Amino acid sequence: MLSSVYILFFIYWYRCSLPAGQAGSPLIISVCIKICYGSFHLFKFYFLSVTDAACLPQVNSPLIISVCIKICYARFIILLNAKDTKFENLFYIAKRNKNCFMELPQIPNLIYYAIPFFILTVIIEGIAIFKKNPESYNIKDTFASLSMGVGNVLVNLLSKLMVVFVITFLYENFRLATIPFVWRAWLLILFADDFCYYWFHRIGHESRFFWASHIIHHSSQKYNLSTALRQTWTGGFFSVVFYLALPLLGFHPLMIFTQMSVSLIYQYWIHTELIGKMPRWFEAVFNSPSHHRVHHGSNPLYLDRNYAGILIIWDRLFGTFQPELKEEKVVYGLHANINTYNPLKIAFHEWIAVFKDAFSAKTSLAKKLNYFIKPPGWKHDGSGLLSEDLRKEWLLDQQKNASIN
Ligand SMILES: [Zn+2]
Ligand SMILES: [Zn+2]
Repeated sequence: MLSSVYILFFIYWYRCSLPAGQAGSPLIISVCIKICYGSFHLFKFYFLSVTDAACLPQVNSPLIISVCIKICYARFIILLNAKDTKFENLFYIAKRNKNCFMELPQIPNLIYYAIPFFILTVIIEGIAIFKKNPESYNIKDTFASLSMGVGNVLVNLLSKLMVVFVITFLYENFRLATIPFVWRAWLLILFADDFCYYWFHRIGHESRFFWASHIIHHSSQKYNLSTALRQTWTGGFFSVVFYLALPLLGFHPLMIFTQMSVSLIYQYWIHTELIGKMPRWFEAVFNSPSHHRVHHGSNPLYLDRNYAGILIIWDRLFGTFQPELKEEKVVYGLHANINTYNPLKIAFHEWIAVFKDAFSAKTSLAKKLNYFIKPPGWKHDGSGLLSEDLRKEWLLDQQKNASIN
């Protein structure tokens, strides 16, 4: 209880350092400042006074420590804003009012600028593939992917309204700090957004509710730049839940949406077979055509691997990385392909399938709900095969074949 009061005090105090119109009462500010002057026992750091107010006696309670940790986070944000970046400024209160009035940079919607580039490069790549091997290019598949892309842009006009509202509402009312538009903040949001993307994408594969919208991106049996444009029509309404931490941490909505666009544009060029492997240092850190080919593979070894957006480090960290192997040529598409170019079927077939499975299952309501929560392939009677099962089966077969040979 007391802890929540302290935290509320802190948040309120910090909000008081924000632009005009948001000033808090002097009493609350003074209490909060005094809490800040308390000893940060955990690291033996003492907060410095910027006024002549008396320091509180040392308080070593976990409550104070938790408040102090939050203050440290706020200091870090202040440091981002400060021109002189001396270490001790991290523990100095004085700069909290600096650059309060944030000027918003003019950043256009990058996706709209990228669309002509997308169309041009899809055509150039198409001609290059067709010249090499006409059999390997399927114009109907490309048009299906493009129609999914156009549908995605149109649906997003609606879903973006909701997403912008949620992100802005959280930022305006509940942010813990105000992160300025400086290059260090752009570097931070690259990591923060990419981390959110990793989990959004991973759960998109590991929970059938999210898979029902993400499956669209994997429904082509071809792999070229047009596949990147084969985007969901329904995912835009749910994906925001994976990004809520960004406005709460204090990233401005404009910064968040710009970084999301950068991530989407980055992921365009990796949808090609025309680029083999990138240099080793690049493959170690960044997502690449080779890593993402694996992600689009239906081979058991490649299923549910390489969820990365821009940085492949997350897959390496969380155990979902799989390099592309010469001896295991990628077979693109789904474990059970849908074989259709009809955009409506592509967009909704899995939604229909999951509802059918849930309603037709003769089992309890809780187990019916599990059809939406559990991974694709799950069945209430235990007869379903998940990616993990398919991989295990495949590995066993490999071992058997090796022992025969
Ligand atoms: Zn995926
Ligand atoms: Zn992809």
